[in-house]
Amino acid sequence: MEKIQMTTPLVEMDGDEMTRILWGMIKEKLILPFVDLKTEYYDLGLLHRNETKDQVTVDAANATKRLGVAVKCATITPNRQRMEEYPELTEMWKSPNGTIRAILDGTAFRAPIVLPCIRPVVKNWEKPITIARHAYGDMYKAVDLETGEAGTAELIFRSESGAEQTLEVQTVSGPAVWQAQHNTEKSIRAFARSCFQYALAQKQDLWFSTKDTIAKVYDGAFKRIFEEEYEAGYKAQFEKLGITYFYTLIDDAVARVVRSKGGMIWALKNYDGDVMSDMIAAAFGSLAMMTSVLVAPDGTMEFEASHGTVTRHYYKHLKGEKTSTNPMATIFAWSGALKRRGELDGLPELSAFGGALEAASLETLEAGIMTRDLLNLAEPGFEATGVDSEEFLDAIASRLRLRG
Ligand code: NAP
Ligand code: MG
Repeated sequence: MEKIQMTTPLVEMDGDEMTRILWGMIKEKLILPFVDLKTEYYDLGLLHRNETKDQVTVDAANATKRLGVAVKCATITPNRQRMEEYPELTEMWKSPNGTIRAILDGTAFRAPIVLPCIRPVVKNWEKPITIARHAYGDMYKAVDLETGEAGTAELIFRSESGAEQTLEVQTVSGPAVWQAQHNTEKSIRAFARSCFQYALAQKQDLWFSTKDTIAKVYDGAFKRIFEEEYEAGYKAQFEKLGITYFYTLIDDAVARVVRSKGGMIWALKNYDGDVMSDMIAAAFGSLAMMTSVLVAPDGTMEFEASHGTVTRHYYKHLKGEKTSTNPMATIFAWSGALKRRGELDGLPELSAFGGALEAASLETLEAGIMTRDLLNLAEPGFEATGVDSEEFLDAIASRLRLRG
C-alpha cells in the first residue's frame, strides 16, 4: 500500500511515563505504516527539559507558531515529590502546558470522545460538548484582603499619564473580606478570536455566556468584545458555514445545555470554565476519553490528551507487566493534528486518514474491544472484553488496514 504523503511537517512533542510508551506504540502501529510522517521532533520528557533548562519547551512552542500544527504527549509537571524521584532535576520546572499556552496566547478546548456504547449521564446528549475556558485573570489573578474593623475600601487606578480613577467599593461596619480582580482587553480579544477560529475549524455553533446583567461593566466588556470580533471578522464565514454564534446569560446557558442534544462549543470565563469543564467531563464518562486542543488567535493548533502521564500504570509497565491504559485521547490528538495539517496544506488524503483513524478506533470500541477502564462505563448488557493497550492498538490497526 502506498503511504500518504505530507508536505509540511507538524511539531511532535514527546512526553513522559506511560503516555510516552503509548506514544511510541501509536506511531509504530497506527501512523507510520500508513503515512510518510514528517515531524519536527521535540523531546519534552522531563529529563530532557532539565538538560536543556526547559529551552526545548520554548523551542517547541515557537516551532508550533511557525508550522501551525502540533501534537503533544502528556508531560510531568514536577512538584516536590518529583524532585525526590528525579534527584538530577536542577529546578522545579514550570508546567510545559503553561509555557506553551503563554507563548501561543492560546485557549484550551476540551472535548469528550463519544460513542453509542458509552452513554453520557445526561441521556439527551448525543454529540460532544466542547468547553473553551478563558485562561487568564479574574479570580485566578486577584488580590484578597481581610480587614478587622469598620471602614471603607476604595479601588484606585493610576494611569501611566498620571490620571486617577477612584471608586468606593463598600463601607462596612465590622470585619470583612475583599477581592480585586482584573482582566485585559488584549486577553479577552485573543480568547474571542481563538473561539471563533475553533468554531469555524470544527463547523460547530459557538455559545458564550457571562453574567453581564449583574457585572455590567466587567462581564459587559467580555460580551462587547466577543460581539465586536464576531461582527468584524467572523460573521460572514459563520453564515457561509451555517453555524451560529449565540450569547446568553450563564444561568440560562446551563439550563439550555443540560436540555440540549450537545454538539456546541461553549466558551466560558475562567472560573465558569473551571467548574463546567469538570462537570462535562464527569457527565461524559472518563478523563481517558477527553481530548484537548490549544488554539491561538491566528488558528495555530496544538492537540493533546486531557489526562496526565498515568504514573501508576507506568510503574506496572516498568515491572514488565502489560497495562490496559486507554490510548484513545492520545490517538485523537494525532488524528486531530493530521486532519488539521491536511486542511491547511490542501491534502484531503491526509485529512481523510485522520478521519479513518478515528472511525477505526470507535469501531473497535463498538465491537466490544476496550481497555479495562471503560468496561464499567459501557451500557448495561453491552458485551465487552477488556484488553491491554497493545492488543487494543492492534485491533484498531487491523480495522484501519481493512479500510484501505
Ligand atoms: P493522570 O495521569 O491523568 O492519571 C490519574 C488516574 O486517572 C490514573 O492513575 C488512572 O486511574 C486514570 N487515567 C488517566 N488517564 C488514563 C488512561 N489514558 N487510561 C486509563 N486510566 C487513566 O493524572 P495524575 O496522576 O494526577 O498525574 C500524573 C502526572 O501527569 C503528573 O506528573 C502530572 O504533572 C501530569 N499531568 C500532565 C498533564 C498534561 O501534560 N497535559 C495533565 C495532567 C497531569 P487508575 O490508576 O485508577 O487506573
Ligand atoms: Mg476544575
